[in-house]
Amino acid sequence: MNVIDLRSDTVTVPTPAMREAMANAAVGDDVYGEDPTINELEATAAEMFGKEAGLFVVSGTMGNLTSVLTHCQRGDEFILGKQSHIFRYEAGSAAMYGGLQPNTLEVQPDGTLILEQIRGAIRWDNPHEPVTRLICLENTHGGASGAPVPLAYIEQVAEIAREHNLKLHIDGARIFNAATALNTDVKTLTAPADSVSVCLSKGLCAPVGSVIVGSKDFIKRAHRIRKSLGGGMRQAGILAAAGLISLREMSTRLAEDHTNARLLAEGLAATPYIAVKLEQVRTNMFFFTLKPDAPITVSDLIARLQAEHNIIIRPYNAERGEFRVVTHYWIKQQDVYTVLNAVRSLLGVAVKPIEGAAD
Ligand SMILES: *Cc1c(COP(=O)(O)O)cnc(C)c1O
Repeated sequence: MNVIDLRSDTVTVPTPAMREAMANAAVGDDVYGEDPTINELEATAAEMFGKEAGLFVVSGTMGNLTSVLTHCQRGDEFILGKQSHIFRYEAGSAAMYGGLQPNTLEVQPDGTLILEQIRGAIRWDNPHEPVTRLICLENTHGGASGAPVPLAYIEQVAEIAREHNLKLHIDGARIFNAATALNTDVKTLTAPADSVSVCLSKGLCAPVGSVIVGSKDFIKRAHRIRKSLGGGMRQAGILAAAGLISLREMSTRLAEDHTNARLLAEGLAATPYIAVKLEQVRTNMFFFTLKPDAPITVSDLIARLQAEHNIIIRPYNAERGEFRVVTHYWIKQQDVYTVLNAVRSLLGVAVKPIEGAAD
């Protein structure tokens, strides 16, 4: 029985086509700029995003950190969401390595920051105050249940940035999910941004890596920052070969993951003892809650799903009975039915197994 791992789209392993491309990748020393597959990956990313240049980096964290350090000087301030990945989950790296001060604003349920609050957070030109240099958005927003942030909003933020001579960076770890949900392409969706960081190893299945894109000048300076962070790589075309398949092929199939997330969410919503806010199911992730009167505890449900059904689900907030679920390439429609039947059987809910379900 295969494992159904719903913890995150980071658990995706490379596809057979990726492994084959990796085995056959042309490689060279990328620190000398001589890895043809990395060069192709960077050019392909730049082209897809309509930016002048791209840079392959080790991780999304390195992509964001490299971008932020390239835009800012020590002591500068940058504006971002309090629930953003950069602020919450990147080990304080911008402060640690850049001496930068985050100015955080509350992220709204639709993944946006309130425009008036952004304006209000920008500093005066006064020696008492730090210099505001950068605004960071996240799209889709993981801290807002995977909300896709629309172009019209990004344009408004870019307008504020331009008025105040600030840069705009988008943490687009899941930008292809956003473009898919908004029925647009990434070039259009990120046109207002100065830089974008894109994860290849989440829903796009590559084993390692992110790319950042921006102007030639930005990428040239980012190159030096990446080296200083220890991110200079040698024959990493082996990794870039998988990344090319991510960009070209895996980026076009994410609607399937969104459909499966919705199917699973609706099935859970129709299950007694479970609450799901269906309006928050917009891309490939959502949260659900086990109600207090459920006949099983959060920890028992998790343990038994894994032990008896090979299903792995992450508790998000055990006290509130909250779980997070993320769909991805390795979760098929059949798996959704398997999960629903397993959850219902553990809850002792008398429903007949959903049609088409196998175990
Ligand atoms: C995953 C993720 C990142 C990068 O994380 P790494 O673990 O460093 O690859 C950045 N931003 C968001 C929104 C993410 O979801």
